[in-house]
Amino acid sequence: MSNFNTSDFLNPMQTVTWANGRHEVRCVKVIAETHDVTTFTFAMSQPVLFFFKPGQFVTLELEIDGERIMRSYTISSSPSIPYSFSITVKRVAGGVVSNWLHDNLKSGDQIAVHGPVGQFNCMDFPADKVLLLSGGVGITPVMSMARWWFDTDSEVDMIFAHSARSPKDIIYARELDFMSTRIDNLQVHLICEDTNVGEAWSGYRGYLNEHMLSLIAPDFMEREVFCCGPEPYMRAVKAMLQALGFDMDRYHEESFGEVPVKDVKQAEKHADAAELENQQPKEMVTVNFTDAGKEVQVEVGTNLNQAAVDAGVNIAKACGVGICGACRVQVVSGERTMTQNGGISDEEIEAGYVLSCCTTVDGDMVIDY
Ligand SMILES: Cc1cc2nc3c(=O)[nH]c(=O)nc-3n(C[C@H](O)[C@H](O)[C@H](O)COP(=O)(O)OP(=O)(O)OC[C@H]3O[C@@H](n4cnc5c(N)ncnc54)[C@H](O)[C@@H]3O)c2cc1C
Repeated sequence: MSNFNTSDFLNPMQTVTWANGRHEVRCVKVIAETHDVTTFTFAMSQPVLFFFKPGQFVTLELEIDGERIMRSYTISSSPSIPYSFSITVKRVAGGVVSNWLHDNLKSGDQIAVHGPVGQFNCMDFPADKVLLLSGGVGITPVMSMARWWFDTDSEVDMIFAHSARSPKDIIYARELDFMSTRIDNLQVHLICEDTNVGEAWSGYRGYLNEHMLSLIAPDFMEREVFCCGPEPYMRAVKAMLQALGFDMDRYHEESFGEVPVKDVKQAEKHADAAELENQQPKEMVTVNFTDAGKEVQVEVGTNLNQAAVDAGVNIAKACGVGICGACRVQVVSGERTMTQNGGISDEEIEAGYVLSCCTTVDGDMVIDY
């Protein structure tokens, strides 16, 4: 147990508000959610109100084995409980940071976080009726939204459909049950891919499909959709909604990045529809890394950092979402598309620099690296 006690210094009359930047925070609580998912709650050593838009994320800056390493995690708590904020982390097999957090981070420890940032949030897309769709640990941003609407007595009509591998993998199961039994405007539907031996399950089974969607949210066409989960899950959801003629301007999604191959194999069972898209032949282009003296052929649309990996060139990658700037490289020539979250200045962009983690290769490229 640590001797850090937030109530010693909290005073609602003297609190300032959190803003995007680098912050030293202290872990104040560690909660086991499932066998491989843990919530870590943080507060600051001075009174701060952690305001953010539900759905946004922070990037942790850690030192692991002498190396500075950054990873982004959604804020799973709600700004309606503003004296602390939480992240909920799933162990990834072989993953550096997720396992380090589970095995090392404890109450009383101090770490640095950057943020809050993120365009996937419920404030920028207000709606009277929403459909929250999540798979696995992708529940975190939509849970933050649901908690916000629940705590603020909002009248937003929420349908929350969460997919998990098995009943023991359902994150926040009891809280979702509690919330949905207390208000009329939240319906929770849980879908399990499978059950383990001896596990009872009376909810939906399999993968979210058109038939399930029509039972869960017959009026889905009238709803704003917020979706987060493994890439194949999101591809399948998106393809299904597109095929049903849903207005995709009202579809919002958050990607946590590439998932390990093992998980992709599992989740690809979701993605019959998406596979069709993958079968279309793609144009190949060349990326040349001049300093390293290496080049590689990749499909148009490949992530530049991935192209470097394929070429055997090691470009540093930290947050993976265009915040930290660690993966900045200079482009000598070539068409590309970059989306970023503030990790590069306008002057640098003008000078030809890109953040390789969030740049796609659109044609032959030459990189000064
Ligand atoms: C905006 C955003 C929000 C996110 N929110 C959450 C959240 O709420 N909860 C959550 O749990 N996660 C979240 N993530 C994902 C999180 O950032 C991490 O990606 C995740 O925890 C895995 O990190 P890691 O360091 O444990 O794994 P990594 O070390 O990055 O490894 C990932 C996988 O790749 C494999 N691998 C690593 N290096 C190599 C290599 N050289 N060759 C082959 N395989 C390799 C590893 O074995 C592992 O299976 C979010 C990501 C983003 C971008």
